[in-house]
Amino acid sequence: MTGERIGLYDVDSKIPNLALMKLSAWHRNRGDFPELYRPVAHHAYSKIYASKIFEFSTAPYLTPDMEKGGTGFDLATKLPDEIENLDPDYSIYRYPHSIGFTMRGCRFRCKFCVVPEKEGRPKGSKTIPELWTNRGSSFVVLLDNDFFGQVHWKERIQEMVDLDLMVNFSQGLNIRLITDEQAQALSTVKFRNLHNTRKQVYFAWDRIRDEKLILDGVDRVTRAGIKPTYMAFYVLVGFDSTPDEDMKRIMMIRDLGCDPYVMPYNRTDPYQKKIARWVNHKAIFGSTKWEDYQTTGRQKEAPYDEGQTLLLFAASLGAVQTLNDSDLESLRAGVRRVYDLMNRGGWHEAQAIRLAAGEHGIPASEGLRRMRELRKFGFEIERERVEGSRSWRYRLRSDRND
Ligand code: SF4
Repeated sequence: MTGERIGLYDVDSKIPNLALMKLSAWHRNRGDFPELYRPVAHHAYSKIYASKIFEFSTAPYLTPDMEKGGTGFDLATKLPDEIENLDPDYSIYRYPHSIGFTMRGCRFRCKFCVVPEKEGRPKGSKTIPELWTNRGSSFVVLLDNDFFGQVHWKERIQEMVDLDLMVNFSQGLNIRLITDEQAQALSTVKFRNLHNTRKQVYFAWDRIRDEKLILDGVDRVTRAGIKPTYMAFYVLVGFDSTPDEDMKRIMMIRDLGCDPYVMPYNRTDPYQKKIARWVNHKAIFGSTKWEDYQTTGRQKEAPYDEGQTLLLFAASLGAVQTLNDSDLESLRAGVRRVYDLMNRGGWHEAQAIRLAAGEHGIPASEGLRRMRELRKFGFEIERERVEGSRSWRYRLRSDRND
């Protein structure tokens, strides 16, 4: 019996999608040929799985024949145990590191969060040696929502240290409850940011009323020997806080010497989008006041202007024809769609990017020349051949946290 071709549609993951990688492993074990979904090959797949993490994401290629899963679609769908327990197949993303959970669940019940409903109270999942399956790399990304909420956190820390691993706590650690002992243990770990480019550990400050808890937590972590410059804070805006309260948290985090990172609750809200762009784009945050950013907007951003950068990118792929400044306004909507698509991570084919931009064509040689220009703007576009095809696919990388 010959294997079947299986499509895995990753709608919006920022890092390789664990569920899709496990489905890939399961199908590969059966002799099938799983691959990341390509809309042009839709008719060739025997089965297509679609996974969406965020409710707000659109899924432009979703069709009724796909099997859907992920918190972006619903909270109930779960992988069967025989698939859940498999090691992920990283090859579909060509991801060289390891990703996984040492625990599930959370001690808190924040109103804006789906974790308590989906996963319940904290419980252990895998040990570090169990989830560190890509042993060619010593970098591990943890998806735990409440690492120190699990009973066996000490053993997991000891495993990280004994195996000399670099670890990213991608969902943040709970600084409100961190004890001196836990902070001390954390200081023995080689914690890193998501792209493994610098030493960084993430926490969150979501509610203004937690000010004292946050400050006490920063104090404990600092006393354990972790410098504030190594700490980053997710700052939720737009849920139940006012702009003044948002600004207060952002500035307090900055003044502590830590790195604020704004998470908009509603990504379509103009204020939330704007403050996220201002804070999260570090070159802008470091050089432009909020008042100036609000009133003068993009002129203040040059040469880090995201619109201009993405216009160059869209042009490099033939999505737009010219690079004149005068075109920027009219092309911004298309460029923004390109950015939204690319910024989700993962690979995207040129055709999909052109579709997002809404326009067509320049010669490929001119596109490549323009693509090289992007490096000046701190964005790196990676390119690779689509297997069995003459076309290319692309991935956006930048040194930002997102
Ligand atoms: S602490 Fe984090 S994971 Fe837990 S409920 Fe709150 S937001 Fe969700």
